[in-house]
Amino acid sequence: MMNAISFDIEEHFQVAAFDCAARRRHWGTQESRVERNTQLILEVLEQRGVKATMFVLGWVAERNKNLVKRIVEAGHELASHGYGHELITVQNPKIFREDVRRAKKLLEDISGKAVLGYRAPTFSITKETEWALPILVEEGYRYDSSIVPIVHDYYGIPGANPSIHTLKTDSGPLIEVPPSTCEFGGFKVPIAGGGYFRLFPYSLLRKLLQRVEAKGEPLIMYLHPWELDPGQPRMRGAYLSQFRHYLNLDKVHGRLIQLLQDFRFGPIEHLIAS
Ligand SMILES: [Zn+2]
Repeated sequence: MMNAISFDIEEHFQVAAFDCAARRRHWGTQESRVERNTQLILEVLEQRGVKATMFVLGWVAERNKNLVKRIVEAGHELASHGYGHELITVQNPKIFREDVRRAKKLLEDISGKAVLGYRAPTFSITKETEWALPILVEEGYRYDSSIVPIVHDYYGIPGANPSIHTLKTDSGPLIEVPPSTCEFGGFKVPIAGGGYFRLFPYSLLRKLLQRVEAKGEPLIMYLHPWELDPGQPRMRGAYLSQFRHYLNLDKVHGRLIQLLQDFRFGPIEHLIAS
C-alpha cells in the first residue's frame, strides 16, 4: 500500500504552543535551525529513495529560498503551510485569504511550480473556522490536510471523516487529506505525528500504523524539522506544551529511518491522483 509522508517546514520557535506576541516580535533575530534540520530530513529521504510532501511556511520560504529550491529539485512535492503561522482560530476571512495567497505566490515564484496543497498551522481548521475551506478553493488550492477527526485542546473536529474525501464547499470541491488517527485505549489518537509519534515505543507505533493500513486506509504521516533537533534552545511555556515539544527528540531521526524501512511512502499528490 502507498502511504503519504509530509513535513511541516517551520522554525522551532514558531510552534503554536509557545506562540505569543512578544516571542513573535523576535522571530527575525532567533537562531535559524530550519535549514540544517530540513537538510537532515532530505538526506534520510534520499537514502531511502522516498519522495514526500513539504508544507513550507511562507515566512521560512522567504528567508530560505535555496532550501525551497533544493526541496523541489530533489523531487518532493512543495505545498503551503500558510505564511505567518497564526492559528486560523484567531484570524478572520480577510486575514486568512491574504495569508494563504501570500504563501502560495511566494512558493510558486521560488519554485516555478503550482502549489496545490495546504496545511493549517497546528491543524487549526475546526468547526469554528470551516469558513476557511471555500477560501482555499478560491485561492487555487486543490487539497487541504488540516482537519484531524479527534478531540484535542488546540485543534480537531471530533467525528469528521477520517479518510481522504472530497468536501463540497460553496466555492467548489476541496479534497480533504486528514492526518491518520487510530483507536487506542478507547480514544481516537493522532498516531501519525507529533507527541504521539514520539511517545509510544516504536514497536507499538508500528503495530498501530499497520492496523490503519490493514483497514485499507493509506497512512498520512507528518513531522517537523525541529523534531529531529534535540539540541534546539529550550523555550519556556506551559508544562504540557514543554512535555509534548521536547519529548524523545533524540529518537526521531532513527525512528524516521525505521519508518521508511517498514512502510511505503510517497507524496500526498500521488495519493489523491490515484
Ligand atoms: Zn506548523
